[in-house]
Formats: sequence, structure tokens, C-alpha cells
Amino acid sequence: MTGLLEQHIAVVTGGGSGIGRAIALGYAREGAHVAVLDADADAAAATAKAITGARGEASSLQLDVTEREKCREVATQIGATMGKVSILVNNAGINRRNAFTADREAVIKDWQDIMAVNLNGVFNVTHAFLEQLRATRGRIVNIGSIQSFMHVRTPNSPAYTTSKHGVLGFTRALAAELGKDGVRVNAIGPGFIETPLNEKVRATNPDLVKMFMDHTPLGRTGKPEDIVGPAIFLACDLSAYVTGSIVMADGGYRSI
Ligand code: NAP
Repeated sequence: MTGLLEQHIAVVTGGGSGIGRAIALGYAREGAHVAVLDADADAAAATAKAITGARGEASSLQLDVTEREKCREVATQIGATMGKVSILVNNAGINRRNAFTADREAVIKDWQDIMAVNLNGVFNVTHAFLEQLRATRGRIVNIGSIQSFMHVRTPNSPAYTTSKHGVLGFTRALAAELGKDGVRVNAIGPGFIETPLNEKVRATNPDLVKMFMDHTPLGRTGKPEDIVGPAIFLACDLSAYVTGSIVMADGGYRSI
């Protein structure tokens, strides 16, 4: 059977864990050759091993998306060894949950760290792969959030909300500019997805998770696999006329 992503070379940042890992595995199942990138080299290698163990094609490389020059080096290396990238998933992201009124040093550090990964990281990686994506008339999938539209108190930092609003703005700006090159740029807005990112909240604050779920029509938390279908859709030709959009995969949270 032919997969939806045959002939594609896909890069997934933060592919060593959670949503990124699930997308990398899903893309490989659809026939893409996947470059799994993560700040944690072992985690990236483990995802690539899971793919090749299932007879998929994958490579892994260590990449901290905050390191702009390293992003360029990795893009050059992938272009030379695997071929030109046609799908980029900007998934690497972090969260810290201090309120703006918390300890000053903590708030400043949260702001710097979150912006460095969630927003500057998306810029760094996208810019590094820009020429390859233009050459392949490629597709960019950015991982936004419900917090691309609103602040959710699970609790959460203003930096995270700001960064995810920024990811949606970046998605729209690039869609507008790169459409003429045939490059499509979209985002996914996951709801509350069970990953290591929110392990602590889930373990320590069940009431809060319940409040969140009471506002979720589908009445359950998401699993990383719930993001894979939208990620495949936005990367393959089924979405040929879709750009500048955000697909919400949030159990309906933002709709009510
Ligand atoms: P996760 O399980 O923590 O995975 C994130 C991955 O990104 C980890 O492997 C992490 O490595 C890596 N990473 C962190 N900083 C990095 C950096 N500077 N450079 C490269 N890789 C880095 O989290 P997740 O829940 O799957 O999150 C993936 C994306 O979905 C994020 O953008 C997040 O904001 C977004 N999202 C998640 C949810 C949710 O409910 N889980 C909801 C909405 C949006 P380390 O483990 O070594 O830090």
C-alpha cells in the first residue's frame, strides 16, 4: 500500500518525546523519510530506532533549536545526506507555570527560556530550512496551542501564552509570503495532551485537570496519537488548498 507521504523528507523538532515522537512515527508509517531532531540526542535516537524497527526510514540528530548557527549546520547536513526537506514540523516546545506576579527572577528566566525555544526556535529552524522548502514546494506544520487564542490557567505562564500566539502569527505571516512559492504553512492547536510536558500538573492537580475536562466536549484528555492525523493531513496533498490555517485538535475546548 502506498503511503500519503511517499517521497517526502520530513524534519520533526522535539521528536524525542510526546507529540513530536508520535508525529515522527506517523509520518514514517506514511512513507516519509524522517529526520528526528531533539535537544536530547538519546531521545531522538530512540524515536529513529523505533521507526527503523518498524521498517520505516529515519535518522536522528541532536539539535537545540535555540542555537541558530547549529540549526543552519544541521539543515545543510540533512540536505546533503538525506536530500532536500519537504516537510518541517516545528514541534519543540517547553512550558513553565509561574504567574507573572511570581518571584521576579523566575518570571524573567521563564520569559527568556520559553521565548528562546517556542518562538525564536521556530524562527531559527524555519529560516535554516527555508531554501530547501522553497525548492521542494514544501509544507510547514507549526505546533500552536489553545493558547494561540487564549490564556488557560492550568496554571500557566504569560510567556507560554504569548509564545503560542506568536507561533500562530508567524504561521499566518509565512503563509502569506510563501504561498507564491507553493510552500504551505499551517498550525495545529492541541488541547490537553498527556505528555511529559504536563506530567506534573496531572500528578499534582487532578481538580484542575477535571475543570479543564469539564470544558472539553469530548470529555477526555488527548494522547499524542490524537495529533498525528491532523499532522499527516497538513503535510500531504489532501490539504493542497489549505494554508495559513490552524487545525484545532483539542476535544472541542476552544469551540464552547
Ligand atoms: P514533551 O513531551 O516535553 O516534548 C517536547 C520535546 O521537545 C522534548 O523531547 C524536549 O526535550 C524537546 N525540546 C525541548 N527544548 C528543546 C530545544 N531547545 N531544542 C530541541 N528540542 C527541545 O512535550 P509535548 O507535550 O510533546 O510538546 C510538544 C509541542 O506541543 C510543544 O510545542 C508544546 O508547546 C505543544 N503543545 C503541547 C500540549 C500538551 O498538552 N502536551 C498542548 C498544546 C501544545 P527535553 O525532554 O530534553 O526537554
